[in-house]
Amino acid sequence: MNPRERYFDNAATTPMDPRVLEAMLPFLLERFGNANSQHSFGAEAWEAVEHARTQVSRLLGAEDPSQIVFTSGATESNNWVMRSFPSGWVSPFEHSSVLEPAQMQGFQMLPNNGLELGSPAARTDLVSCMAVNNEIGAQWDPGQFVGLGAKVHSDMTQAVSKVQTSLSGLDYVSFSAHKLYGPKGVGALYIRDGSLTPMIAGGGQENGLRSGTLNVAGIVGMGAACERARLEFRTNLDHAYALNGIVLEEMRGLADCQANGGARRSPYILSLSFRGVEGEALVVDMDARGYAISSGAACSSRSTEPSHVLVALDMPEDWLRGTVRISFGRFNTVDQTAQMAKTLRQCVEKLRTMT
Ligand code: PMP
Repeated sequence: MNPRERYFDNAATTPMDPRVLEAMLPFLLERFGNANSQHSFGAEAWEAVEHARTQVSRLLGAEDPSQIVFTSGATESNNWVMRSFPSGWVSPFEHSSVLEPAQMQGFQMLPNNGLELGSPAARTDLVSCMAVNNEIGAQWDPGQFVGLGAKVHSDMTQAVSKVQTSLSGLDYVSFSAHKLYGPKGVGALYIRDGSLTPMIAGGGQENGLRSGTLNVAGIVGMGAACERARLEFRTNLDHAYALNGIVLEEMRGLADCQANGGARRSPYILSLSFRGVEGEALVVDMDARGYAISSGAACSSRSTEPSHVLVALDMPEDWLRGTVRISFGRFNTVDQTAQMAKTLRQCVEKLRTMT
């Protein structure tokens, strides 16, 4: 059995697809050129980067590959956009890499009624709304903010390659390679009309928008991962629905258990709350039995602060504390998922008898 089968934290990161590694290896070894050098070593690296840009733009559905700028990941892409505008409104459900820079800029929070988002209450330069939430899998259409006279940004880190997305009317879209079986430390920002203040000044790479010697192997890996994801979109989506259904079925009839995220949610992320159980204890218990699940977003789950996402939903404390996230991926099997779900139920029942 492959250990990847017991890994149910694919929203934190995914294992790299061996086919992606294969595409990257030559660019770490014999084809090591700097993509901006004039000689043929440089030219082959440049060509590989441009090929990857096309692969990424195809998956995203961009009009032109030049709209894709490579970054170090979604955190950088999000920070870049937030820091480029004097005023803005952001959804309360955003990832910390949107929320923190937005707070630093003095941006306002969009009003919400449960999962439903309201419009900005004043004229603004930017609205940011994620497409899929990383903790509960809830989906929004950032297109609802198009036409308000503001630029619209969407963090699609948990959406690209997973659910149907649309760029229609959007100005900026962020995402990362390592959530779609690519390498860590590489991501992209879609910029519709090429207008954004450069994030990093220097050698003028990426049309002067993001200087620094290109991470050629990483970019090639991101391109290969996007190409696989585009070709295998439907198969992977059906698989995620099937696995999600298996876990929900296993939880059926279990007292004080609820699935979060509303009616419209990604099948790749299943947030479950077990009232009266400590989510952290559940994660530790599951880990001891060989299964990786999470008690929140990987980036915030080491803190003891309650999740801002669950707080924005007004979830009562005893439900909030008992929340875990199961996130599915291509390498999880039906058998292991059924086993994991049984184990999870047993752990919940055991922890309940101990309190
Ligand atoms: N946005 C969302 C919705 C995410 O889930 C993540 C990763 N947890 C990020 C942004 C940040 O991505 P990265 O760590 O690759 O920069």
